Amino acid sequence: MSTDVNPFESLQQQIDTAAAYLDVGDDVIERLKQPERILELTLSIERDDGEIETFRAFRSQFNGDRGPYKGGIRYHPGVNRDEVKALSGWMVYKCAVVDIPYGGAKGGISLNPADYSEAELERLTRSFTEEIRPIIGEDRDIPAPDVNTGQREMNWVKDTYETLENTTEPGVVTGKAIDSGGSEGRVEATGRSTMLTAREAFDYLDLDTEGATVAVQGYGNAGSIAARLVESELDMTVVAVSDSSGAVYNPEGIDATAVKRHKNETGSVTGFEGAEAVSSDELLTLDVDLLIPAALENAIDERLARDLSADVISEAANGPLTPAADEVLADRDVLVVPDILANAGGVTVSYFEWVQNRQRFYWSEERVNEELETLVVDAFDELIDAYERHELPNLRTAAYVVAIRRVADAYEEGGTWP
Ligand code: NAD
Repeated sequence: MSTDVNPFESLQQQIDTAAAYLDVGDDVIERLKQPERILELTLSIERDDGEIETFRAFRSQFNGDRGPYKGGIRYHPGVNRDEVKALSGWMVYKCAVVDIPYGGAKGGISLNPADYSEAELERLTRSFTEEIRPIIGEDRDIPAPDVNTGQREMNWVKDTYETLENTTEPGVVTGKAIDSGGSEGRVEATGRSTMLTAREAFDYLDLDTEGATVAVQGYGNAGSIAARLVESELDMTVVAVSDSSGAVYNPEGIDATAVKRHKNETGSVTGFEGAEAVSSDELLTLDVDLLIPAALENAIDERLARDLSADVISEAANGPLTPAADEVLADRDVLVVPDILANAGGVTVSYFEWVQNRQRFYWSEERVNEELETLVVDAFDELIDAYERHELPNLRTAAYVVAIRRVADAYEEGGTWP
């Protein structure tokens, strides 16, 4: 893992690489490399023991040319201004790749949620929502879950916003529980797009999915669901999984659901019976067919990229490869399905949730999954088309070529004002 790569610089480098293949002016590209606005906050809440504690929090609205800003809220000690800027930019291009009518945003609070009670987290979430209330709304900016936030936090965001606005507006936030206006299929949507893009990548390379071996780094929402779906829908064999406490490996296979149950019970995948402990770096370089990075940014640097053996990488996490790792893998002909497509299922089903909230008409899980599959497979085909037609170095560049074209067109069609 590399800690000295700034994710915002990685994003800008990814845009520059793609811009070289596009007929878009440098002035427009420059505009597409910077967030439009960042709100930086100091939140104060009362702890359960009566002490006041302050937290740094952010909301970055990167670009709104194609629709309302859209993006998650992360609770993690590593949250900082540049990370939020990068994540908000990736949202712009992710929404454009799957062609849903959103811009991009991201927010976060710097804390380790494990150190706080549920009541404290609720006060913090409500305080954050109150502060960002003037700039969010179902036609303005629509938050969603990210690392260490989920339905519970999204329900609090909705309730706070609706109470303060004296209205019902469930589409102000997505990733809610079903009874609070959430969508069927939302919880597993990110893992589902990771599985679907892995399937398409194997098909493109003429590789069999049945019996193919898989390693998953990061066994949270995205990683554990991707693991379960590649196992159940593609007949792949998950052989190794990891989380922040360590990794476990069994070349004969690990039951993805059983190891998740073990993690829920014990707090970690380590100690799972019937699998040996390996280091987190070893997991990344195991001899597997598919690698799914599903933890955090910069997990795979140039050195690890030289050592890993997978034929396909499907990026469930945002920004798991450093730009240098990307170059090494392109040279080694490893097919990397970029994050902005591989994990776009989350925001795509968030879009379906928002559509259902606005129509007050709710879809079946079957319909959600079918519509998701159509958008993800169409987007994959468009990337392959751009990759082959322009002889691009990798699918990431193809994804940015497709996405930047769409955002730049929306901007230029709008004309300039004032
Ligand atoms: P999560 O908190 O549910 O899971 C993260 C997992 O990664 C945890 O199991 C944690 O222990 C593990 N982890 C952290 N550091 C690690 C390390 N160094 N090595 C191995 N494992 C490590 O979060 P999530 O929602 O699953 O998000 C994971 C990634 O997927 C993030 O990059 C996030 O931005 C991205 N993502 C998530 C969604 C979504 O809908 N949840 C959507 C799009 C993208």
